[in-house]
Amino acid sequence: MKLKKTRKQRKCYSCKSLIYKGDLYGQKSIALGEKVDGESETFDGINVVVNYMRIPVSMCQCCLENKL
Ligand SMILES: [Zn+2]
Repeated sequence: MKLKKTRKQRKCYSCKSLIYKGDLYGQKSIALGEKVDGESETFDGINVVVNYMRIPVSMCQCCLENKL
């Protein structure tokens, strides 16, 4: 995980603490929803492959290091 310096104040996704301007933070992408990636589903009679919707979240240095 590469840490970056934030140029704006952020909130840590994990511990909800503030990451102040100039502090290091990391970005992680998390999956939304319950679907299994690559699962196929029928939509309007058409078979489609469902993908996770992934969103990027900010996490503080502390949480990132604790995860390692
Ligand atoms: Zn945190």
